[in-house]
Amino acid sequence: MAIKRKALSKQVRFEVFKRDKFTCQYCGRMAPEIVLNCDHITPVAKGGTNEFVNLVTSCEACNSGKSDRALSESDAVKRQAAELLKLAERREQLQMMAEWRTELGKLDEEIMATEMKIKAEKDKIKEMIGLVSEAGELDEAKLTKGEKKEKEKIVKGMKKNKAEFKKDYGKDAEKVMYATATKMAQKKK
Ligand SMILES: [Zn+2]
Repeated sequence: MAIKRKALSKQVRFEVFKRDKFTCQYCGRMAPEIVLNCDHITPVAKGGTNEFVNLVTSCEACNSGKSDRALSESDAVKRQAAELLKLAERREQLQMMAEWRTELGKLDEEIMATEMKIKAEKDKIKEMIGLVSEAGELDEAKLTKGEKKEKEKIVKGMKKNKAEFKKDYGKDAEKVMYATATKMAQKKK
């Protein structure tokens, strides 16, 4: 049964020659010393295709002596297979690196978003401390005798949790404590 051989395009042959550095992969001789051929590794008669991986650079002498025998065991083919494997591995690693970079980028964004949230939260607390202590100072002058007594009681209770206030409000802890106590004493009216 005759298998129709599809002619290789000039472009494909050029790519194969470039890959093989214009060297016959069987005898190692180079153009222009020899005339280059683009040869099928698995012969077309045995089902070989025109795919890049099934093509190899050969010289006329090597090509004509070859007939239809399969070349899959030749050194040239083994070398080519090894190079292809290396290329595939390199490509996979590049892909992995790209993915890693994307993940790092995402992580950076998350960290930045969290930091901004924390900063906004801190700013809000700072603002609240300012407002509370301002109002507390104003209100303190208006406290009745009873309310002042009540306030002292509340502050005494709060001082047991001084550490907690310190943790939340830092050096403003005392201010916040008194201001809050003032507010609370007023509410008990
Ligand atoms: Zn040759």
